[in-house]
Amino acid sequence: MAALEGSWVTEAHELGQCAISFQVNKLLHAEQSEFQKIEIFESAAWGNIMVLDGCLMVTTRDNFLYHEMMAHPALFTHPRAKRVCIIGGGDCGTLREVLRHEEVEHAVQIEIDERVTRLSERYFPELCESNDDPRAQLLFIDGVKWMAEADPESLDVVIIDSTDPVGMAEGLFGREFYQTALKALRPGGILVQQSEAPLLHGSLISSMRTQMKGAGFQAMRTLCFPQPCYPTGWWSCTMARKGVDLDSFRERGAATKKFPTRYYNVETHRGALALPEFLREQLEG
Ligand code: SAM
Repeated sequence: MAALEGSWVTEAHELGQCAISFQVNKLLHAEQSEFQKIEIFESAAWGNIMVLDGCLMVTTRDNFLYHEMMAHPALFTHPRAKRVCIIGGGDCGTLREVLRHEEVEHAVQIEIDERVTRLSERYFPELCESNDDPRAQLLFIDGVKWMAEADPESLDVVIIDSTDPVGMAEGLFGREFYQTALKALRPGGILVQQSEAPLLHGSLISSMRTQMKGAGFQAMRTLCFPQPCYPTGWWSCTMARKGVDLDSFRERGAATKKFPTRYYNVETHRGALALPEFLREQLEG
């Protein structure tokens, strides 16, 4: 849970018995939405910081790492993703990255808590710069329900950018949900989900991959990347495909992309596909 002590906001992570603190100047906004406590701080050196139910969610300074890695590996692995859905993603940073791909014709974001998006528009306007893109559609409902009712073979990529697998997000991390996502994906479609901290959550990642396989996905790959504001400072996303290959990607397309990134490139994509040995043993051993 995040606590404000003096001029520091700290998230103490029980499982990891570790904590991360940011020096803050002031609390900009706090409210209890229908779904969670939302706090926004102005920090001394990391821009604005969003905290949801005591968990550090987004900072102005380091969110690019996460948003780029949640969008670009999947979109450069898919040959031509036209229809993308984002579950969660209320700060809109992932949506912005998805819409940088000109092949994307429609990106629907299903965020359960509209207050997260409205506050992001005020305190993280740079993340929301694509919200008015004609290709974007923002819905404020439960992603579990939406996916269960999605048209079969209507999506090319599903991105699950949710909070941790507890409470309202828990249903996004199980076989039943993955079965609905598989049905909504076209052949060759790709699901990518934030899969927590490699150092703390190896068993969760392993269980996610087992559930994905059990739902009918044929290939799974976990990609690790730095994310200073999350527990241990090291995060992951896991891709699953309605198809067999997640190792090869459009390297030429990635190398000649027409939009800026600050972390993602061909080398970081290729490097992220190489699992650290402890995780390789845990996931593939
Ligand atoms: N980058 C963050 C992380 O990795 O923890 C996630 C960012 S985003 C703010 C997470 C969003 O998931 C929250 O805004 C939350 O409201 C949303 N969310 C959680 N469960 C959901 C569900 N079942 N359907 C739709 N959105 C959900």
